[in-house]
Amino acid sequence: MNDHRRRLRGDDAAETPPGVGTFLGTGAGSAAYRRAMDAAVDAVLDVTADGPYSGATYDELADELAVDPLPETGEGLDETLAWVREHVLANSVVTSHPTCVAHLQCPTAIPALAAETMLSAVNQSMDSWDQSPAATVVEETMVEELCSLFGYDTDAADGVFTSGGTASNLLGLLLARDRYVAETFDRRVQDEGLPAEASDLRILCSDTGHFTAEQSAAVLGLGEEAVVSVLTDDDYRMDPEALDAELERLDEDGKRPFALVATAGTTDFGSVDPLPALADRAADHDLWFHVDAAYGGALAVSDTHREKLAGVDRADSVAVDFHKLLYQPISCGAFLVRDGRHYDLIDRNASYLNPETDEAAGVPNLVGKSLATTRRFDALKPFVTFRTLGREGVAELVDYTLALADDVAELVERDPALELAADPTLNAVVFRYRPLRSHPDRETGDWVDAVNRRIRDHLLERGLGVVARTEVDGDAYLKLTLLNPQTTVDDVADLLVSVKQYGAAVESEVVE
Ligand SMILES: *Cc1c(COP(=O)(O)O)cnc(C)c1O
Repeated sequence: MNDHRRRLRGDDAAETPPGVGTFLGTGAGSAAYRRAMDAAVDAVLDVTADGPYSGATYDELADELAVDPLPETGEGLDETLAWVREHVLANSVVTSHPTCVAHLQCPTAIPALAAETMLSAVNQSMDSWDQSPAATVVEETMVEELCSLFGYDTDAADGVFTSGGTASNLLGLLLARDRYVAETFDRRVQDEGLPAEASDLRILCSDTGHFTAEQSAAVLGLGEEAVVSVLTDDDYRMDPEALDAELERLDEDGKRPFALVATAGTTDFGSVDPLPALADRAADHDLWFHVDAAYGGALAVSDTHREKLAGVDRADSVAVDFHKLLYQPISCGAFLVRDGRHYDLIDRNASYLNPETDEAAGVPNLVGKSLATTRRFDALKPFVTFRTLGREGVAELVDYTLALADDVAELVERDPALELAADPTLNAVVFRYRPLRSHPDRETGDWVDAVNRRIRDHLLERGLGVVARTEVDGDAYLKLTLLNPQTTVDDVADLLVSVKQYGAAVESEVVE
């Protein structure tokens, strides 16, 4: 008889099952948990003190990290965590470092880290109420609060936590498509698929909008070419007159525009499309108005900057990310819809998960609001952060970074060796190094592009700063996304000195 059978028969009461000590629920588990958490915390605190990045290249890391991820016998936790600390954490970008300023990748608020630890440990799954009783209520409460922050009527509005803007934008455009097809062709896409006219469906989005509009169009079976790119003004905001012209052209061509995507906080410039003017167009042309506020949605908490989102309450749906300007660990986003009845378009009941009898009994199963089934209790993170800091506390962080970006933009503008691409709307500053020396071979834009690209690579390789690259009208630029409320203007000034020193070195061929 094997151990398992013997145990089941109770022949050997002293035998402990293999999980004891590896899971919570016993004294041994509690002790192991505490030790593991302490060790994990020690490992994290050990590495965050150094620079923004070790400077290791991909090839170096591929070598360094070449271990067997599934050894025949285990190494034990102490050894494993020590290895992770030394090789993985030490070669991670340090998001809390003042000069880790490349992307919309935020330092994580400590209350959120505590929440992350708790939600992972209790492992609630948000698809059905019986897998997440209190968590379902907390998520509903957070969604309602967000709806109210964005000016929605909370009785009618609804929403769900998502893995981020990609998922939220897809969900918004899915509802938009299905509503249009239902109203225009009396056809339920969920059941019958797309109508023959689907190749005429069009989505309008600015030329600085996020690529997930195109990606969603492709996933939704419309193809990326279904997204019509609308020109922006000098501040990288959608130009309403250009939108009018596109709508007229689509009408003449017999196309079927059904959705207008506005961006509140473009990835490069943080620009916010003129929401009221776009909401008017959407209403006039019966377009679903989706606002991608993945980045800029955070302004809703700020008394100083909330007005930049004026008009967002007229959106049919909104995407907002917490893992960008709201300081939550990845992943954490939300999708909001002004009229929750639109969820009927993607209604689904699984007898084992959300039987219709539950609905009749008033038990919510959130699976019907999301494209994910098993889903994390990410709502706990902003819940704990917001309750800890309060709205004013969160707003103070956001406001600080917007003011910092203004100060940095001013530094850049005053410096003859640097060129600012645009005044920042949120906290991203796009600029480039301007070579001072002229050289017959170096008058071309290609040379300036090459110098700027090398500056960015150099800063990363030397661990001086994690800075992003982007293009403006085909030219190479550098970008600082100043999300970190601990970064000072002096930190950035130092980084800019490094930018100029290396730029000058490249120019005078001190480096090859
Ligand atoms: C980041 C971002 C996205 C994508 O969101 P994820 O959270 O990365 O999935 C979409 N739109 C905008 C404007 C963004 O900034």
